[in-house]
Amino acid sequence: MNVYDSARMADVLAPLGYAQADGPEEADMVILNTCHIREKAAEKVYSELGRLRQIREQRAEDNPEDAGPVLAVAGCVAQAEGAEMLARAPFLDIVFGPQTYHRLPEMIVRAERAAKTGAGKKSSKGAGILDTEFPDEAKFDHLPQPRADIAAAGCTAFLTIQEGCDKFCTFCVVPYTRGVEFSRPGEAVLTECRSLVEAGVREVTLLGQNVNAYHGAAPEGGATGTASAAWDLAELITQLAGIDGLERIRYTTSHPRDMDDRLYAVHGSCEKLMPYLHLPAQSGSDRILAAMNRGYTAAEYQASVARLRQVRPDIALSGDFIVGFPGESEADFEATMELVASVNYAQAYSFKYSPRPGTPAALLENQVPDDVRGERLQRLQALLDSQQQAFNQQMVGRRLSLLLDRTGRRPGQLVGRSPYMQAVHLDGPASMLGRMVEVEITDAHANSLAGQLISGVQGPDLQPTAAMAPSEKPIGMEQIV
Ligand code: SAH
Ligand code: SF4
Repeated sequence: MNVYDSARMADVLAPLGYAQADGPEEADMVILNTCHIREKAAEKVYSELGRLRQIREQRAEDNPEDAGPVLAVAGCVAQAEGAEMLARAPFLDIVFGPQTYHRLPEMIVRAERAAKTGAGKKSSKGAGILDTEFPDEAKFDHLPQPRADIAAAGCTAFLTIQEGCDKFCTFCVVPYTRGVEFSRPGEAVLTECRSLVEAGVREVTLLGQNVNAYHGAAPEGGATGTASAAWDLAELITQLAGIDGLERIRYTTSHPRDMDDRLYAVHGSCEKLMPYLHLPAQSGSDRILAAMNRGYTAAEYQASVARLRQVRPDIALSGDFIVGFPGESEADFEATMELVASVNYAQAYSFKYSPRPGTPAALLENQVPDDVRGERLQRLQALLDSQQQAFNQQMVGRRLSLLLDRTGRRPGQLVGRSPYMQAVHLDGPASMLGRMVEVEITDAHANSLAGQLISGVQGPDLQPTAAMAPSEKPIGMEQIV
């Protein structure tokens, strides 16, 4: 979602004459968009700020005319730490949260005014502007239409449909930093998706902290197949699937508690909905799941998986796990290993529990020692890795359809995503970027597959863009989490 938010910030800034720069050395403004979900992510912000401050000082030293970039911090660390962040980094100009970035233009005007009056001397004392409110009006009502060249710098795009969370899992900061649950109206999502498709997007990933809790206002006339005035996620997916030129739909992140009959059914009926689902379990121990306030048991989670496989037998599953939640015993951890063994994931993310300030679990006394957390994480990751390897291996010899979304690191190499989210490398001309092709899988590796082109359906020739350049992390879950 931070990737999506950053693109939307660029939309807001474009009319002011800002465009993306290659790096902080040249930029007039640097915005760090931050994540507070685990301590490690939050820590990185301050080390990065130290580096930016040095760049700013160096620029001022090299050229007295150059005051260096305006420095801003956005996102959930900014939301959570606010004034504390300004005290710790007084050279900052702007600190703002995930729900106020539509107000960036006025914050920038204030920062510029402060710089002119000397109230914000850039090298040591910044303008110190803080906006971490949760405004009543939804930011989406104030954001400009996404600029196609920013949002669709490739053939895949993220699209936020839901934000915030009311579930209050005891380990999680999201309800405090992103705010209450909010769904965008169906029509607004359709309009945004249509403009992305016009700009060349073939695959859209619908985003939300609890994306399957989506219940957006239905356009005039109500929903098809339901009499209600709201669209649920199944309805939204069905509507989006009607957009010509959109080939693939994905959504993330789902909460097991919000899987419902209509959503299971759409996995069986909607061809454009890819057979891949990220469904975080967090733990396999009912005792720990209750302490986490997750609202399901391991058996209920397994029942969800069984229903998904019933409607879509080839569905690839992904998940999130936390090891070492306070009070987790060896037996609780073994229950997680058993759940993983029984589900058999195509891939998954696993984390050591990280106590987050202000969350109930951080106050629990029975914290698990770090070495125990680390050792359990290793065991879990070894199991998940072996499942991923086996999943990839069974693709060898199969034919898969790919959306070629970037160039590879070797000259002449292209990379696409399989329906199951695997990165597949193959040789082909750059003119094929943005196309759906058929490949035969020739080899499997731990994190990717190799394939050979069988056929390429006709499609628009896209010029390679920066977003299609080789990357260690092709657009995928890792960027979201
Ligand atoms: N809404 C999603 C998760 C969003 S947060 C859900 O409910 O499943 C993304 C992932 O970060 C979580 O699934 C969890 O595994 C991890 N996470 C969140 N808080 C954490 C914490 N305090 N320590 C370690 N991992 C955490
Ligand atoms: Fe955090 Fe997800 Fe729980 Fe909401 S449902 S509190 S986002 S882990």
